[in-house]
Amino acid sequence: MAVIKVRVSKLRKAKSVEDSRHKRANGEAPVEPQQREVCAFCDDGGDLICCDGGCLRSFHPTKGHGERSMCTTLGLNEAKWQKHKALAEKGLYLCENCKHKQHQCFACGLLGSSNLTAGPEVFQCKEQKCGHFYHPGCVAKILYPDNKAKATCFEHCVAGGLEFSCPVHKCKRCKEAENKHDKEMQFAVCRRCPTVYHRKCLPRDISLVEDEEEATPQRAWDGILPDQILIYCRKHEIQEELGTPKRDHIVFPDARNPDAAERHRGAPHGHDIPDEDELLDRLASCNPSQSPQPAETGRGRVKPIDSFAPKHLFLRPQPGSCGWLDD
Ligand SMILES: [Zn+2]
Ligand SMILES: [Zn+2]
Ligand SMILES: [Zn+2]
Ligand SMILES: [Zn+2]
Ligand SMILES: [Zn+2]
Ligand SMILES: [Zn+2]
Repeated sequence: MAVIKVRVSKLRKAKSVEDSRHKRANGEAPVEPQQREVCAFCDDGGDLICCDGGCLRSFHPTKGHGERSMCTTLGLNEAKWQKHKALAEKGLYLCENCKHKQHQCFACGLLGSSNLTAGPEVFQCKEQKCGHFYHPGCVAKILYPDNKAKATCFEHCVAGGLEFSCPVHKCKRCKEAENKHDKEMQFAVCRRCPTVYHRKCLPRDISLVEDEEEATPQRAWDGILPDQILIYCRKHEIQEELGTPKRDHIVFPDARNPDAAERHRGAPHGHDIPDEDELLDRLASCNPSQSPQPAETGRGRVKPIDSFAPKHLFLRPQPGSCGWLDD
């Protein structure tokens, strides 16, 4: 499923709660990662095109599709949209980040090469339905905020190829994992940074309602993501006219940030990357059973370690890593 139609959630009103309850009452379990359900730009639902390259994001494709949420959208014209759609239906649509193997660090927002064969700068979380990339130093700092030595060591390990589980898989307050079957233990997930809380651990000022007296904006929405609360944590200022933080958080390597593409070490040159026409041509001329592989992601690299694990779980240092993470 690569082109999806998700009920429009309209963040400011969150009127889709009823739809969502209805959906679950009918036993329709969501199979896609939750973040697929909303547009990466505006966090609203509707007609979305899903990237098949591993970032697990969806986007409003044209201005028309993003009109009601005032979404910046991919800005495709009708001809481009039809081409992208054809690719997406075959599971071959890649967003600009996945196409160029340059992804933003979910912690600092900067673009870096995720090309594992040519000096990668950002690495993808090992969790199946995560999709976030990080600089080794950025993820280390979040996971080991109070232990510089451990953070430095962990940074080297990640840069050396060790798989890691990123901070969005543990509650910021109690450090426990999610349990979707226990409502209080479901996650409230920030859409802008690696911050999650259990429903029961959600700070009071990340509120499901707007408090006009206190002038605190709504920061949490129930019923938009399946079995999760969508939040913007306190780090992000809510823009009154949008009902969301500023939407400058997505950076594509070419059009919006040519410098980042330029400094990307070992990046394939522009002419090496097939455009949509080329891909469709190739597709038409090749055996339909041999689909091109989706873009390389950080998964399936070296053996996993649990980045939240205490030292006794770091049993086998990887070759080339810095070995034991000790207190
Ligand atoms: Zn959008
Ligand atoms: Zn992508
Ligand atoms: Zn970073
Ligand atoms: Zn993750
Ligand atoms: Zn918690
Ligand atoms: Zn946040």
